[in-house]
Amino acid sequence: MTRTVQKYGGSSVATADHIKRVARLVGDRRRAGEEMVVVVSAMGDTTDDLIDLSKQINTRPPAREMDMLLSTGEIVSSALLSMALQADGVDAVSLTGAQAGIRTDAVSGRARISGIQGDRIERELAAGRVVIVAGFQGISDDFDVTTLGRGGSDTTAVALAAGINADRCEIYTDVAGIYTADPRICPSARPLRDIGYEEMLEMASTGARVMHARAVEVGALYGVEIYVKSTFDPSAPGTIIRKETMMEQGNKVRGIAHESRVAKVTLRGVPDRPGIAAKIFEPLAEAGVSVDTIVQNASIERLTDLTFTVAPGDRERALEVVNRLNQELGAAEIVSADDLGTVSIIGTGMASAPGYAARMFRTLFDQQINIDMISTSDIRITCVVAADKVADAVVALHNAFELDRQG
Ligand code: ASP
Ligand code: MG
Repeated sequence: MTRTVQKYGGSSVATADHIKRVARLVGDRRRAGEEMVVVVSAMGDTTDDLIDLSKQINTRPPAREMDMLLSTGEIVSSALLSMALQADGVDAVSLTGAQAGIRTDAVSGRARISGIQGDRIERELAAGRVVIVAGFQGISDDFDVTTLGRGGSDTTAVALAAGINADRCEIYTDVAGIYTADPRICPSARPLRDIGYEEMLEMASTGARVMHARAVEVGALYGVEIYVKSTFDPSAPGTIIRKETMMEQGNKVRGIAHESRVAKVTLRGVPDRPGIAAKIFEPLAEAGVSVDTIVQNASIERLTDLTFTVAPGDRERALEVVNRLNQELGAAEIVSADDLGTVSIIGTGMASAPGYAARMFRTLFDQQINIDMISTSDIRITCVVAADKVADAVVALHNAFELDRQG
């Protein structure tokens, strides 16, 4: 018997009608003989609404209570989906993350899954029921409810698929898969048939928001093939995220990712001594600021400039940290800006083929787009550019690397 884990995102369960539609999709598969475990997100904007509500009560809501509050969104949709299935004559049961045996560490708001205790799910499946699991949550050793971080239901689904040895893991969303670029700004973007775990991780961490990066990590670790599909067009092929299988990829750039807005902080004229980077980036990490691109210029007369980018929402905190440290660092000036964005080209094939960076820079130059900073990995090249040039850059690169053609 095929055992399938599916996940439906917030837009797929946004209203009662949406939930009934999902129930029909799930019911069809169950009637065809599959064992079905279904992970759901909170309905529509429920999580954002709950966050707003909490702020009206307490401007700094305690993290533990936030977990309690936010976990309810997914519980609502799981109970409703179970009811919808039962109304259709399909036996079903909803489970909270805790009831489903999703064990986590105790880090409120961004807990990590430590293991899946699958016996309850196994019993329900053996009894012939569809099991609906509230996504994005688990339980700590102390029986505190935890949540996995925004977008965490994807991670619930992939971890469950690994934990209960599912044959298939399907993530349903409101788009037709992983696109070569964001179709909202690049009309010729098309869904990829497949993409490797590493490529997907780079896409997710440089702005493609379809999948939670941690879900892709779990998939890679346990070899779970992830099918990303549209709830609104479930028969379309969608994208499979799996181990890179093609020996020679026809098109070595697989996708263009972008971030519409990032901020940068520059320390000018820092006396160049060993340990500067450690002095800055450790305290930033401790303050919870995640730093992306870092550029340190070659020093001239023992003075260097150091620039790094952060999410716009982290800029104030980053500046506080750096200004505090500067008594020790002795930078002449600290400046920041937030009118920047990033554009990245991604593909494992690039690692073995020269010339991709040159083509990227040439393409941006032809569009008169100035490159502010550059960072690279084996399989990615990212350029920081002016925020108002990001869309043009994405379209130009999509054309230059011929991503509108099946690769
Ligand atoms: N409801 C949560 C969020 O909006 C988790 C999820 O949707 O995956 O972040
Ligand atoms: Mg959501």
